[in-house]
Amino acid sequence: MASPSTRGPVVSGDSAVRATGNLYHGGIMVNYRCNAACRHCLYACSPTRTPGYISRETMAEICGILRRGHIGSVHIGGGEPFLDFTGLVTAIAELKKADIDLDYVETNAFWARDDSRSREYVRTLKELGAGALCISLDPYHAEYVPYGLPLKLARLCDSEGLDYFLWKQQFLPSLSGLEALSVHSREELEKHLRPGYISATARDYGLRIGGRAINIEEEYGPSWPLAKLLRKAPACPDLLHTGHFHVDLEGCFIPPGCTGLRLPLAEAVDGIPPGKYPLFEALYEGGVAALLDLAAGRGFVPEPSYPSRCNLCFHIRAFLAGKGFAELDENHYKESLTYYSRRDCEDHHCDS
Ligand code: SF4
Ligand code: SF4
Repeated sequence: MASPSTRGPVVSGDSAVRATGNLYHGGIMVNYRCNAACRHCLYACSPTRTPGYISRETMAEICGILRRGHIGSVHIGGGEPFLDFTGLVTAIAELKKADIDLDYVETNAFWARDDSRSREYVRTLKELGAGALCISLDPYHAEYVPYGLPLKLARLCDSEGLDYFLWKQQFLPSLSGLEALSVHSREELEKHLRPGYISATARDYGLRIGGRAINIEEEYGPSWPLAKLLRKAPACPDLLHTGHFHVDLEGCFIPPGCTGLRLPLAEAVDGIPPGKYPLFEALYEGGVAALLDLAAGRGFVPEPSYPSRCNLCFHIRAFLAGKGFAELDENHYKESLTYYSRRDCEDHHCDS
């Protein structure tokens, strides 16, 4: 899924914003709510995220902007897109109207438990020309969705002729010793896979650290002194990178990887008014050091060490969320710090 890279508009001092280049490989997040609350979820989705699903109107607006950015195809993700199948069908219809191809729809397959419903859904998707299903399968999801359901859905796709891929198939051999139709707790997975499966899975994924995954880094990663992290800390111009970006149900652009930040898509594409998003600008132009300066003026006191610059960035943003920065999604920070169960590594052998 590598994409060509280009940058979006530039925020530069008080100069006028510039027009964007083409958009590449985007995803539309139709909701934030999910039946699961996986410990690696970059978007911190969960059953307690605010309910809501992308509307036809927002979808049409997004499609118009994407067309202007010359995007040819997108994927649909969430949250769990299948929590509202009618909403999903509506979203796909809008893509079709705008002549934007749908590469795949992401799902954790929770709905495959019900045979007749899942057959109906798969047939409908096929009729709508929905590309493929990206079906999640890994030890993190196995805490919330029995891993037998992704496999059942894969078999159904085979029989109905709908393309799919398991994300990621490589985890199947290690899971296959477990009961397929039950969920499995962290303790069970540690016993049956290996004690350090959480960090090993993050490594195998090449997991981007953000959202709820910051907890994995904090539990398993080494920590570095603040001064070391800030030394030569680069600016973050990739915040406006247009390869593998996402747009959420409210029509906001989410930078690739740096979740919890968001801007209206129209502004991310057409130009960001200088001064409107000071926190975003600080990061874009001066990186985490500039963000720390901004936060220090508002009372943020850093810890002596963090596992990474992005981890520090997350905690500064979590502190500033709810303090008048429109570019921060307040719920993201609360939800990222919820649902992650830790254990005491002094009492156990947490090999990583
Ligand atoms: S990773 Fe996917 S299935 Fe898990 S909580 Fe996030 S959106 Fe839901
Ligand atoms: S420091 Fe912050 S803005 Fe920069 S790449 Fe890391 S998470 Fe993204």
